[in-house]
Amino acid sequence: MGKKQRWDNCALCGEFRLTTREHVVPKGLYPESKGASSTFQRITVAACFDCNNGTSDDDVHFRNVMAMSGDASPSVREVWEGPIRRSFGKVDGRRRALDVFKLMKPAPEFEGNRYMIYPGNDPRVLGTIRKVVRGLCHHHRLLAVVKNDKVWADVLKYPIPTEFAEAVVIAHAEPDILDYKYLVVDEDELHSFWLLRFYERTTFIAFVFNKSIAIEEPDSMVEGAS
Ligand SMILES: [Zn+2]
Repeated sequence: MGKKQRWDNCALCGEFRLTTREHVVPKGLYPESKGASSTFQRITVAACFDCNNGTSDDDVHFRNVMAMSGDASPSVREVWEGPIRRSFGKVDGRRRALDVFKLMKPAPEFEGNRYMIYPGNDPRVLGTIRKVVRGLCHHHRLLAVVKNDKVWADVLKYPIPTEFAEAVVIAHAEPDILDYKYLVVDEDELHSFWLLRFYERTTFIAFVFNKSIAIEEPDSMVEGAS
């Protein structure tokens, strides 16, 4: 693949293995026009093949879901016109499109054929969020390694209590793609609290715990969730 490999501790599993530098924020989320931007430094971490490779398909799915959630900003429009259109045209495009449409529900409160999309009902979407948070924990040197079973994530459904909102560290990545904030609590079982907003509209909340938790994943679309 031509990607530079080196022996290092994987940022996601902690094992000493051959690693490559991998993007913490799935790179498909960036429109091509951002590729030329030298002002923006993308966050990368060392990741082993096992931790990274199994999730590249999930990254594409995540990009598709984020691009379809809400009204289109210029960045979303560019991603939509380019890579998404191309990916739906490929051999597995039909499957990818179906993966997205499965998350959609009619929204009769709006006029015309409007649909709402429910990213919080998709285990693959939430898995991508957990992976982003794990990478950011390493990047900010908060914890060397965060295993997948120490992170809980969901779409933000309720306003954040103001004491949280005032205390968080604001750590913009690239505001029109992802901006995120975090608060290190490190008390008892809770390590930190995270808010991640994609394309200035879909916000996820995540908690990192100091010990493993049983991750509850929705197995199908749950009525009333958003
Ligand atoms: Zn690994």
